[in-house]
Amino acid sequence: MSCQLCNSDVLELISSKDAKSSEPLNISICNTCGLIQQTSIPDEEELNRYYHHEYRQDYKGVYTPKAKHVYRAGKTALQRLNFLKSAGVKSGRMLDVGAGGGEFTYLADRTGFAARGVEPNKGYSEYARNEYQCNISTGNLDRITGQYDVITLFHVLEHLPSPQSAFQQLYQLLSEEGYLLIEVPWIEARDASPHNIYFKAHLYYFSIDTLTAAASQYFDAIMIDTASNLKILFRAKQAPSRLRLPETTSVVNIRQRLSQKGWLEYLFQGRGLVKPFRKLAERMKERKARNFRPKEILDQFLPAQMGSTTLPRLNELKVPLTQNG
Ligand SMILES: [Zn+2]
Repeated sequence: MSCQLCNSDVLELISSKDAKSSEPLNISICNTCGLIQQTSIPDEEELNRYYHHEYRQDYKGVYTPKAKHVYRAGKTALQRLNFLKSAGVKSGRMLDVGAGGGEFTYLADRTGFAARGVEPNKGYSEYARNEYQCNISTGNLDRITGQYDVITLFHVLEHLPSPQSAFQQLYQLLSEEGYLLIEVPWIEARDASPHNIYFKAHLYYFSIDTLTAAASQYFDAIMIDTASNLKILFRAKQAPSRLRLPETTSVVNIRQRLSQKGWLEYLFQGRGLVKPFRKLAERMKERKARNFRPKEILDQFLPAQMGSTTLPRLNELKVPLTQNG
């Protein structure tokens, strides 16, 4: 196989095992552009079979997330909205691709955007429609038409067989100089457990440089955040241009980052040692969410909290309802 970004044939194997299943999974780095990718990218049909089996994407059952998951998703959605807000992106027609249970779409729609979402999983999208009355359709990016001022993809791009054709599609859906927010796991992160990196579902493992390069025909990166995952806010170019590959020094740097990944770095620089304590404090907050309905949990993240880093206090809600999850 050749590199999916630059077509070079110089791929070097860096891992051969799936972190979840321990089954064989070949991951390579391109020595020309630095993109880390599955050595053999499955085709559309193969991917559909995989998702059908692993993710039960088209199952008709009822999806009911636990309150703590709604709380976590709401908190993450707020951080993402604040990131957009800090770049001056506060309103407009918005499309969230891979909307999941609809938490982000709902909160975006309540805080200034005219938001809709698209989600391939029937259970999730039905849940979002019923629980939050948000505009989420069941399906993939291919089905989407219309024009948007802002498009968001949270943990979606790394699952798509061709990032470049995705960028082309997204460019066509965006209004002139529209915004595109992409969030993916960050291959350069110090706080990821070293034995938890490569999965069959993730076809690509981006660095700042390779993600910027993959988007470069259609988008310019305008804001980058690596607080947990890699978030890049892009702006659509006035006209498509040539692909700009990362510099050679960038490839050297990525290789160096990979060689530093290990338990020592994770525990000391990645703050792996304090993780259990930080988690405990969060668990306490999540527990309080149990007595509220999903929409009430999300509503606690609304206006007064926008722009502040203070998290809402669920125990201050006036009318506790019956247990839900
Ligand atoms: Zn390459």
